[in-house]
Amino acid sequence: MNVAGRNTGSGQPSAAGATGAADVAARLAAVRAEIAACEARHGREPGSVTLVAVSKTKPAADVAAAFEAGQKAFGENYLQEAGEKIEALAGRGIEWHFIGGVQSNKTAEIAARFDWVHTVDREKIARRLNDQRPEGLPPLNVCLQVNVSGEDTKGGVAPDALPELVEAVAGQPRLALRGLMALPAPTPDFDAQRAAFETVARLARESAVPMDVLSIGTSADYEAAIAAGATHVRIGTAVFGPRAPKGG
Ligand SMILES: *Cc1c(COP(=O)(O)O)cnc(C)c1O
Repeated sequence: MNVAGRNTGSGQPSAAGATGAADVAARLAAVRAEIAACEARHGREPGSVTLVAVSKTKPAADVAAAFEAGQKAFGENYLQEAGEKIEALAGRGIEWHFIGGVQSNKTAEIAARFDWVHTVDREKIARRLNDQRPEGLPPLNVCLQVNVSGEDTKGGVAPDALPELVEAVAGQPRLALRGLMALPAPTPDFDAQRAAFETVARLARESAVPMDVLSIGTSADYEAAIAAGATHVRIGTAVFGPRAPKGG
């Protein structure tokens, strides 16, 4: 994508780590166009794929720039960092999606601050999110993260344990079970990407509780995810540019 790295900004230096509003808007437009092209190419309804712009490590100014350019849903992985942005941008109607690993001592804050959690993979976490979802907010939208690649370093429930988790989550009144999320092992091969995503789609279809969301696909593999039925793609790098290495 040739908007990547191109300086379309005002020429003024940007805040440390910020991509610049014009760059963000240009990248966002390019990603939106590509999502629309993927919908058309793979027989999906126009507008059936929602972009969740993954803003982890990026400053609130970048989120604000994307929001001004029409982006509503943002994904964050790290609670402390997310909390600062959520506070800085409060009152604008931004939809916040938690897509990081959920530690049980963080569930209260996640339940209070986020509209969605994509990464529920244990009943204990689901119960805590349910119990801690504040009165006066609608039920928390939840996706169950499935480990389709069988990597033991990754979060996610094993496919054969999924039905039991579905049942447990569906019984929580303050959670709205929406669907499945996955982050398969990276591969450059389109057919392999698609096969992993098709597995997630099949698990959702076979669920005893109806699901309307498939949260699959990142910058590297969202076309395959859309081909397999993604309703939500979680895209960071293609929207906001490369992230600095963690800890650096
Ligand atoms: C960081 C992240 C993304 C976005 O990845 P990009 O390659 O930057 O598009 C998507 N999903 C999850 C769970 C992530 O942690």
